[in-house]
Amino acid sequence: MTTAIQSILNRLGIKANNAAFSTGSNWGGVANTQTLDSYSPVDGKLIATAKVADAADYDSVVIKAQEAFITWRSVPAPKRGEIVRQFGDALRENKEALGTLVSYEMGKSLQEGFGEVQEMIDICDFAVGLSRQLYGLTMHSERPSHRMYEQWHPLGIVGIISAFNFPVAVWSWNAALALVCGNVCIWKPSEKTPLTAIACQHIIASVFKANNVAEGVCNLVLGDREVGELMTHDGRIPLISATGSTRMGKAVAAAVGARLGKSLLELGGNNAIIISEHADLDMSLIGAVFGAVGTAGQRCTSTRRLIIHESVYDTFTAKLVKAYAQLRIGDPLDQNNHVGPLIDTNAVAAYQDSIAKCKAEGGKFVVEGGILSGDDYASGCYVKPCIAEVNNDFEIVQHETFAPILYLIKYKTLDEAIALQNAVPQGLSSAIMTLNLREAEQFLSANGSDCGIANVNIGTSGAEIGGAFGGEKETGGGRESGSDAWKAYMRRQTNTINYSNTLPLAQGIKFDL
Ligand code: NAD
Repeated sequence: MTTAIQSILNRLGIKANNAAFSTGSNWGGVANTQTLDSYSPVDGKLIATAKVADAADYDSVVIKAQEAFITWRSVPAPKRGEIVRQFGDALRENKEALGTLVSYEMGKSLQEGFGEVQEMIDICDFAVGLSRQLYGLTMHSERPSHRMYEQWHPLGIVGIISAFNFPVAVWSWNAALALVCGNVCIWKPSEKTPLTAIACQHIIASVFKANNVAEGVCNLVLGDREVGELMTHDGRIPLISATGSTRMGKAVAAAVGARLGKSLLELGGNNAIIISEHADLDMSLIGAVFGAVGTAGQRCTSTRRLIIHESVYDTFTAKLVKAYAQLRIGDPLDQNNHVGPLIDTNAVAAYQDSIAKCKAEGGKFVVEGGILSGDDYASGCYVKPCIAEVNNDFEIVQHETFAPILYLIKYKTLDEAIALQNAVPQGLSSAIMTLNLREAEQFLSANGSDCGIANVNIGTSGAEIGGAFGGEKETGGGRESGSDAWKAYMRRQTNTINYSNTLPLAQGIKFDL
């Protein structure tokens, strides 16, 4: 580890051995025996170790959170927003350090690490405005001298379970909104990225401390699936917001549903770009390559399939092959590189397995994959982005492989292209590249893309926080971030006030005594 990384760890409060849980400024579970060792996929070195929270630790955090909710929900929403505003400022001060740690612990490029922290800042700004706009509707009552309206109240504890690939932004999308809505949070980050989570907890705790916010408003519990399962089965947590694989989402939905809790699910994608005969091919190339190889294909919105019109198929494929030959793979902290490592060697094995399955099903690779070796690739996590010609109904194409494998599929008519785009179990992000208005509108219509996100002339990857983010089908149906996604973090209450001197019943029912 370089001295620059060591000084970033010091600045962000990361020690060699870190505690298992935190309720704010208080940290606990230092003596626990079970550990999470965080190795960097960049160089394979151990960065630091964190302890795993046990069931008793978890229970103490929930009790603290319940106590904190009673005071936090009574703080006026704009005042809660002011604290979130200060959190955004603290992130601005720590953007470089936190973004670098994201890059080093997770393996995404430095620019993407900074971009991830910028998303956190953006959602804080959004949440500050929102804290004065948690609007309900008013309705006209059918009864005279009655007033009806609805209002929104906080839910209580919001449990946040997050994935490794956006190790900090996804927490902040949830936490910033949940906090202004008057909730308290318990965050279980990915076991693959505990250190960035510890850094975030230190940053928000310092803001809370400066504002005399009680312990228990923002809590962190470290651990793997078992800790997540404690949360999903816990009736004291009314909302579980879970980001991760579809496999995980199905388990979470079943556990939370069994206790009639609420779940907000942000799961896997299998995103396609349709490259039409009317596309600007140069623009399409940038969208396709960034979408497929950015974050080494480890975004939920990564482009996994290109559905290309037969008349431009050969030309566009040739452009892609040429572009892939120019990709520089290596240390993501070196800004000259385009593609960094996969998260760990298990992900490398899954990449190899998918390539083998694709070949066995008849896939023809126009750019071959492979694992890179040598001193620069000592972590064993660096792989070559590859491209295969396939049929959409290959079993492997129907799956999300979290790696830079791009599938090419040929089409004749737009109806066929849209049908292919929709013919996967997932429904997160989609795009069409076309300069033809009719094609664009058809793609966006009810007969078009079935995804939560549908773009025209931009790729599938990289969403702005102002829109509601999420997808349909096996992507889970949840919406986070902008628009009215805040409503998922609140309970709606309908209120009717009678200011007359009689008690008329609704629907004209008579009940005379
Ligand atoms: P993962 O499913 O392996 O783990 C995600 C989180 O869930 C981790 O914190 C893990 O400990 C926890 N977990 C796993 N099983 C659980 C269970 N049964 N109960 C409770 N918690 C459980 O996912 P990953 O490998 O970290 O992330 C990659 C996946 O996340 C991809 O499928 C990607 O598409 C998806 N993702 C989706 C979005 C989105 O917004 N739709 C965003 C980011 C990532």
